[in-house]
Amino acid sequence: MKSVCAWCNTVLADGDASEPRPITHGICLQCAQGFLADLAEPMRDFLDRLGVPVLVIDSGAVVRNANAQACELLGKDLGGIQDHRPGDVVECIHSSEPGGCGRQLHCQSCTIRKIVLETHATGRSFNRVPAYPDLQTRDGIKRSRVEISSELVNDLVLLRIHEICEAGGEEIAAD
Ligand SMILES: [Zn+2]
Repeated sequence: MKSVCAWCNTVLADGDASEPRPITHGICLQCAQGFLADLAEPMRDFLDRLGVPVLVIDSGAVVRNANAQACELLGKDLGGIQDHRPGDVVECIHSSEPGGCGRQLHCQSCTIRKIVLETHATGRSFNRVPAYPDLQTRDGIKRSRVEISSELVNDLVLLRIHEICEAGGEEIAAD
């Protein structure tokens, strides 16, 4: 069975295993690149229609955009996400240390940071990789499990958050 682009009805190439696209797999590359060409309103519409929580992160590891599903999952409005670093967005305890997210010794072993930087550097996609950050929650600091996928489109990384839950414990939020 052939699948078609959800926007332009172009027939999508049958699974090209060398370039898996875990986030925009129902969209042709041309449409995805078009929607992400600027940071204006069409990008939000495009991101919202993906239907799953997605952050857009630039090569400096700054979050440039987020869809409605990501805002809901993270319990923040867009202003609390846009132009912030990923650690601030998920409330990693290390993001409140001097210098902030990305500049701590700890950050060198952060899976979320590694996935973002590697996707930018190589164009490689990642699919459902678990990360275990310590997050500041309403009930104090909790070791958490965050599952993420990534994909490079133009010069931006799309980071899908599949779930955030307490590591080995009850769910905090999920998509
Ligand atoms: Zn298309």
